[in-house]
Amino acid sequence: MPAARVPLVAGNWKLNKTSSEAYKLVAEMLPGLRNIKGVEKLLCPPFTAMMAVARLIKDTDIRLGAQNMFWEEQGAYTGEISPLMLAEFCQYVIIGHSERRTYFGETNEQINHKVRAAISHRLTPIICVGETLEENQAGRAAGVVSRQVREAVLGMDILDADRMVIAYEPVWAIGTGRAATAEGANILTRNVIRPALASLFGKDIAQSVRVLYGGSVDPGNAGDFLRQPEIDGALVGGASLKAQAFVAIVETAQA
Ligand code: PEP
Repeated sequence: MPAARVPLVAGNWKLNKTSSEAYKLVAEMLPGLRNIKGVEKLLCPPFTAMMAVARLIKDTDIRLGAQNMFWEEQGAYTGEISPLMLAEFCQYVIIGHSERRTYFGETNEQINHKVRAAISHRLTPIICVGETLEENQAGRAAGVVSRQVREAVLGMDILDADRMVIAYEPVWAIGTGRAATAEGANILTRNVIRPALASLFGKDIAQSVRVLYGGSVDPGNAGDFLRQPEIDGALVGGASLKAQAFVAIVETAQA
């Protein structure tokens, strides 16, 4: 019997907020977020603001995540951050966000290295997958997403598999104000993402893994996504930078 999937709402702040701005934003969110139970709440600030956020959420059930990392633990990799460094004070790491694939050339193979490194350091990877507009219009969404999922988790031990989170984020919906339809995201999750996981780890694991939707989620449309049976939460970009909007989305997940 697969484990019940606890909803997860994650805020991806991207390249926004100095540490003093981060402190202010989280202080504004805290009263609202504190009262919400039954939803995992996750903040992913830039690296430089993680300490400030960690201090503020120390005695709460709010989790902290990073937006990226390298796969090696240490060494001559100027400018990189390692899983060993992150594991000291955060629980999650976003891997393979489309902005990293597009602007920094991340490949499925590199994403796989990162996912495996995260897992081996007890970090929960949030693996981002999603097709571009061009791929969508050419009817290639299913093939692209299935491949991204399978290549990201290649070699993962079946005993670790239910710890990962997948975020389905169609590239054309990210930061555009043009979200996918909730039904479309649900169908893709049911017909593509879970079968891809099932082909590697079996049906029970595929049913246990949480799948988030991301792409222009806001308080107005969050309910449509969160009501879908296959969608277990949201990865929120722009709206996670506004305290009231982010709290409202998390409240929707609770409902
Ligand atoms: C994201 O950054 O993962 C994202 C979904 O951004 P937005 O909500 O702004 O579309």
